[in-house]
Amino acid sequence: MGCQELGIPAGVITGDNVRKLLKYASKQGFAIPAVNCTSSSTINAALEAARDIKAPLIIQFSQGGSAFYAGKGLSNEGQKASIIGAVAAAHHVRLVAKEYGIPVILHSDHCAKKLLPWFDGMLEADEEYFKKHNEPLFSSHMLDLSEEPKHENIATCKKYLERMSKINLLLEMEIGITGGEEDGVDNTGVDNASLYTQPEDIWDVHRELSQVSDMFTIAAAFGNVHGVYKPGNVKLTPHLLKNHQEHVKQKLQCDSDKPILFVFHGGSGSVKDEIKEAVSYGVIKMNVDTDTQWAYWDGIKNYHDSKKGYLQSQVGNPDGVDKPNKKYYDPRVFIREAEKSMIKRVKEACQDLGNVNRL
Ligand SMILES: [Zn+2]
Repeated sequence: MGCQELGIPAGVITGDNVRKLLKYASKQGFAIPAVNCTSSSTINAALEAARDIKAPLIIQFSQGGSAFYAGKGLSNEGQKASIIGAVAAAHHVRLVAKEYGIPVILHSDHCAKKLLPWFDGMLEADEEYFKKHNEPLFSSHMLDLSEEPKHENIATCKKYLERMSKINLLLEMEIGITGGEEDGVDNTGVDNASLYTQPEDIWDVHRELSQVSDMFTIAAAFGNVHGVYKPGNVKLTPHLLKNHQEHVKQKLQCDSDKPILFVFHGGSGSVKDEIKEAVSYGVIKMNVDTDTQWAYWDGIKNYHDSKKGYLQSQVGNPDGVDKPNKKYYDPRVFIREAEKSMIKRVKEACQDLGNVNRL
């Protein structure tokens, strides 16, 4: 049984197909990597990797990544560049993903309270798209109000989910604080206790949001940290997720051992066994950013190291002083090396998560 038999089509999927794919992942015990992309090059690399190993994929854009997609030369006053960039990137994915023959969940990453104008702008684009195509532009969006008081976090998520459920969008929310730093939010000094979400928190979220729709996922903190830190500094406790599932199951008196769809943030640099364990407790999405950033750079670095003599001037290399170097410094050559390296890393992430041969 794979995506095709479940009737999940290739290309960007929304609504019921997203629900089907995530429940399929939960049931089969695998997770889909959500690869942070900042350009058409990184989007295409992620798609190529997933196609090669016959896997569904999540492509996501951060607020900063979206602004970068539109161009760093544009002003981002009022989140304008972030909105335009996210919409432009979404259209790029919509056009090309189908050709790669894999289902793709199109998602936007962390949106903290101060970035809500970005979120609102994307929702307007979704509503506009829905009018014409009967589905939203994106598949899902993430609201990260984990820094706000719990009641405010949940109430705001509920309010947004009401608006989103009208056009079949899925909401990812975060509760408990993920350490580290990402997109200008610095949680490196946060005390230890708040790095672990409590079972009651998960139940409170489930109780409130499920009154609106079942189209939501939860990023819970279990010691995760954004970015890569020295080994030993990250104390992951995936078994907390198991406790959460048991708590909710007991509250709901349901048959499922995994009533919650969990998202794993800050997975970069994690031990493979911890990833496996987290997936076994109902993680269906894991964010991948730092590791693929490194892979992309590493591709360029290795290329430069191996072709150094051909990359110092337009003309003149170890083969002769009048030999041209155009075929070495053409961006299609060195950017492709970055892509190849990133493709390898995305495949590795898929393998770690059990997301192989799932079509
Ligand atoms: Zn997070």
